[in-house]
Amino acid sequence: GQKEPTDLNALADEYLRLAYQNQRAKDQDFTAELKLNVDPNLGKVNVASQDLGRVLLNLYNNAFYAVQEKARAAANGYQPQIEVSTHRENGVVELRVKDNGAGIPPEILSKIYQPFFTTKPTGQGTGLGLSLSYDIVTKGHGGEMAVESQENTYTEFVITLPVAKPA
Ligand code: ADP
Ligand code: MG
Repeated sequence: GQKEPTDLNALADEYLRLAYQNQRAKDQDFTAELKLNVDPNLGKVNVASQDLGRVLLNLYNNAFYAVQEKARAAANGYQPQIEVSTHRENGVVELRVKDNGAGIPPEILSKIYQPFFTTKPTGQGTGLGLSLSYDIVTKGHGGEMAVESQENTYTEFVITLPVAKPA
């Protein structure tokens, strides 16, 4: 898509609410704590907002799925949490999406960006979300995407986007 100066903080917020609403529409008993820590000095970032929106939605949907999966298995007292943060430093913008859900086992960590790789039951996942997201971030925006996870504890995706310094 066409890149234009975009308020990434607003985009991150908007899609987080949308993803949460979708999740609650599927399961009305579901609740999660949403934390949004945005950098007030982020400024506008030159991105294709529809494409970046799809990336955010994919990451958020995965995060909600992971916390719900853990909630089904966990003992009482588990509080699902999704934390989104932005940060600008030295010509890059960083966007983090962290959940305290099911986590990713180390043996599958290297496969998650492969097209059609999914651990979800038929009908619940296409396995295309991360593959598409990775392409949008790297090929589409010259950025990077990294993941860190600990099984049954947390998963954190970090997107780094280069930003042009103001002229
Ligand atoms: P899908 O969601 O359709 O399965 P994705 O490409 O979005 O496809 O994700 C691929 C796989 O990566 C998922 O099936 C899941 O195993 C793993 N995964 C992605 N995000 C998370 C997360 N936040 N927590 C745990 N596992 C995840
Ligand atoms: Mg997905």
